Amino acid sequence: MSKLILLAGLALLVAAPASAQPAAPAPITAIRAGRLLDPDGGRVLTNQIIVVEGSRIRDVGPNVSVPAGAQVIDLSGMTVMPGLVDSHNHLALTYKPEPENNVYYYTYVQDSTALRAIQAASNGMQMLAAGFTVVRDLGNNGNYADTALRQAIEQGWLPGPTIINSGIIIGGMGGQFSPPPEMAKDHNIVYPEYLDADTPDEIVKAVRQNILFGAKVIKICVDCKPYGYTADEIRLFVREAAKAGMKVAGHVQTPAGAKNAIDGGIWSIEHSGALNDDLHKQMAAKGIWRAGTETPTGLQGHPVSQDTYARTIAGMKNAYENHVKMTFSTDADYFVAGKTRGELCLEFLKPWKDAGIPNADILRAITTNGYRIADIDKTRGTIKPGYFADLIALPGNPLDDVDALRNVQFVMKDGLVFKRDGVMTPAAFFHGGPVNGWRIR
Ligand SMILES: [Zn+2]
Repeated sequence: MSKLILLAGLALLVAAPASAQPAAPAPITAIRAGRLLDPDGGRVLTNQIIVVEGSRIRDVGPNVSVPAGAQVIDLSGMTVMPGLVDSHNHLALTYKPEPENNVYYYTYVQDSTALRAIQAASNGMQMLAAGFTVVRDLGNNGNYADTALRQAIEQGWLPGPTIINSGIIIGGMGGQFSPPPEMAKDHNIVYPEYLDADTPDEIVKAVRQNILFGAKVIKICVDCKPYGYTADEIRLFVREAAKAGMKVAGHVQTPAGAKNAIDGGIWSIEHSGALNDDLHKQMAAKGIWRAGTETPTGLQGHPVSQDTYARTIAGMKNAYENHVKMTFSTDADYFVAGKTRGELCLEFLKPWKDAGIPNADILRAITTNGYRIADIDKTRGTIKPGYFADLIALPGNPLDDVDALRNVQFVMKDGLVFKRDGVMTPAAFFHGGPVNGWRIR
């Protein structure tokens, strides 16, 4: 009975009008851009004016007049461009040299969900400060801390990137863990770090659980175990996810797994270690995204052997030559002393340069292709009227020197200034309530 009353009350609450007050007019900002970089076209336009109304771009061009009463931001000495995209990150996981010796199995049993959610919020702001306005957040999520962060950002509690989160990684029994029997059977220590799905029924339920709990993309372990998914099973994932308009991203670590993922019609292959010339050709033919997560050399505490790095670079060159759709992706889920999460991610520019990929294409990988793999390119990532105002600015021209991206001085997210003159100014993002609406789930 009490449940019924509660449900009736909730129904009334849901039916109530949002607000009777008229909305205040959206603030207008005019940005003077000395150089405006169009990564898709690989070109720079000079002396442009970008007018932003509320969260969206209203106008852009050389002869656009500044509306009366607009706040003017002078970036005439800078290059303005769309925000950056990390296509593979883990905001709610940070393993560390101390105390866990960079073993995330230990992080998982030591850091509470609440702590990981707060870490994720901090990591999100660190990403934004470095210029990343979009993060594809692919699991190891602290029991849906990824969803909580996305909702908190979208509802208006705090600043952060646009988050395309996967919820819990779905895999065959065990996920990426190898628990001892007593931990797996009685306690299922694998959950909630991984969600087991071993049969067609379990696959459907696992996809639905993630969608119910706020995922925006479905992430699966294709071949983390010898009993990895077949092409047919991957087709089932793809079909079930598609009902909710979602894509399937697959962690792949073997050539056989990659083949199944390609045949099963997966949206993106995460990690490049298993990919070869033949698989690259198949990916290019089918238009499957490659989120290679190539780790650079020189990261303190994360050594990469010369052999491994040489294979990584050769793989990137091969993918580029085969016209595979490549994205900038880091797999960042750890702490390197002296670096923010965003600064850490920008270290991952190194392999792209070492592979000899032209700056214009590196810039496409970290912008245009990032928006496409995130499946948000219809509303974000292009500086033209109607698109969300997610802009960054930096001295120098990254078409000439891509490392200019390491010096982002200005960040605008959804039309609000997050960073200016190199200093975070996030006050406009913080609210004591869900100002954009509690219905955002
Ligand atoms: Zn990952």
